[in-house]
Amino acid sequence: MNGIPATPAPLNEPILSYAPGSPEREQLKAELEAQASRVVDIPLVIGGEEVRTGNTIDVVMPHDHGHVLARAHLAGPDEVRRAIDAANGAHREWSTMRWDDRVAVFLRVADLAAGPRRARLNAATMLNQSKNPFQAEIDAACEIIDFFRFGAHFAERIYSIQPRSDKDTWNRAEYRALEGFIYAVSPFNFTAIGANLPGTPAMMGNTSVWKPSLAALLSNYYVMQLFDEAGLPPGVINFVPGDPASVTEVVLSDPTFAGIHYTGSTRVFRSLWKSIGQNIETYRAYPRIVGETGGKDFIAVHPSADAAAVKTAIVRGAFEYQGQKCSAASRAYIPESIWAELEAPLIEETASLTMGDVRDFTNLVNAVIHRESFDKIKGYIDAARASDDAEILVGGECDDSVGYFIRPTIIRAKSPRYVTMCDEIFGPVITIYVYPDGEWEDVLDLVDSTSEYALTGAIFAKDRRVIRAATDRLDQAAGNFYINDKPTGAVVGQQPFGGGRGSGTNDKAGSMFNLLRWVSARSIKENFVPPTDYRYPFMDAP
Ligand code: NAD
Repeated sequence: MNGIPATPAPLNEPILSYAPGSPEREQLKAELEAQASRVVDIPLVIGGEEVRTGNTIDVVMPHDHGHVLARAHLAGPDEVRRAIDAANGAHREWSTMRWDDRVAVFLRVADLAAGPRRARLNAATMLNQSKNPFQAEIDAACEIIDFFRFGAHFAERIYSIQPRSDKDTWNRAEYRALEGFIYAVSPFNFTAIGANLPGTPAMMGNTSVWKPSLAALLSNYYVMQLFDEAGLPPGVINFVPGDPASVTEVVLSDPTFAGIHYTGSTRVFRSLWKSIGQNIETYRAYPRIVGETGGKDFIAVHPSADAAAVKTAIVRGAFEYQGQKCSAASRAYIPESIWAELEAPLIEETASLTMGDVRDFTNLVNAVIHRESFDKIKGYIDAARASDDAEILVGGECDDSVGYFIRPTIIRAKSPRYVTMCDEIFGPVITIYVYPDGEWEDVLDLVDSTSEYALTGAIFAKDRRVIRAATDRLDQAAGNFYINDKPTGAVVGQQPFGGGRGSGTNDKAGSMFNLLRWVSARSIKENFVPPTDYRYPFMDAP
């Protein structure tokens, strides 16, 4: 009982290769087959109990939308209220439990995800969110593991930040959990975000109501099972899939709502913030609002750049996971001199990208998440095809007969403010604006002013003065800024993630800064020799 524990030194989880002949490939193939041949019944989990409402939706494969993987029960207002009660009921014991016991649960989650549950998490992410093995591995396995191993270490660092003390006194800081419950609202595109949004506040002693995306329920349910398997007490995290607007209405009108940990589109985040504002007098305390939202992420290329490096950054940055990353490159500014060298190989490489079912490992590209997304992306492509201001250089084919497939697409815009240079499309589409070599400075102004977002961005240049000047000029244009690298693929502990402007509150997932948002410090001063006379020495003479 008496000791100051040190958490294990965190290291990023190595990414397995899934190369032919590797044991992980065989395990994953077997798990894919098993998951594809059953239909899971996904309950709500409230206070540790499975709850079935009978109001269900089908959970399908985006690349084969007729194939049902699971049926998920949806919460109504009563279940949401029960989940809030369960979170509040678990709060006292969990928030006052020793911190090392709390983080031990999440270190165990990490080890289960690294070992016996790795294939299950990855296979569910592949089948239900349409990711290839590498994309599933870096998300569902590696990032969950990293969030919790590094999180444990960050928790230790926060708790060890203590004030100084003068003679006769001892000052201490206590990092309390927030008073009330956290509402965790996760997006479809990263299983690890689903784990992190309720999990990280829980490490710091909070309890939560977790509303997962309806488009990622299979993997997210397995994450919930992992929390339970690792020994998380009932009620600390409550899994409540349901109609987003109606679940939210109940949650945000509760006086014990203490904070929101959100990742998703900017539009929804703004509506959540407005509702919180409207209810502000209802709450016991001012809620913490943490949201990471959309992006219109750029690649800005200087004439001194290496064209081959730009080509790979565009292909990987724009098309991996079908461009459904908040960090995906979706607008590029290329000088005429580089374009002359880049155009043909870029088009050729993009046209050669393999696309299809996730179970065929030769495919790099899979389907987009659902019909709504397919229709939205297709709408932009159709409009570009019909426009005089844009030209589709490669791709543009859309086919939803079996799955929601959209070929990786490159649009060339005549105007740097063409709509696909400005809007977040969230699909495998990048728009390129080719500029005269002498206009680099104007391009930097365009990069900075074209969209409402400021999430990620990359510059490519060889000239060191250009790199320094552009880095300074674009200091507010991206929360994650890359030099001669693609703007995707941030790693926990290495590139803390988040953006400013319309892209979010920039509380940096995967860093100590995020954990700080889930505690409320109490300063305690103890006086060992309290004064017994109110008079001060200066009063001893007139
Ligand atoms: P989304 O906005 O459709 O959904 C996000 C979450 O909000 C889901 O849980 C959804 O059910 C919920 N939601 C939807 N409508 C709601 C409403 N009216 N009230 C309350 N909740 C509601 O986003 P998505 O399609 O799941 O994810 C893609 C978006 O997420 C993109 O905009 C992407 O840029 C963003 N994203 C950002 C980051 C980041 O770190 N900045 C990471 C991943 C995704």
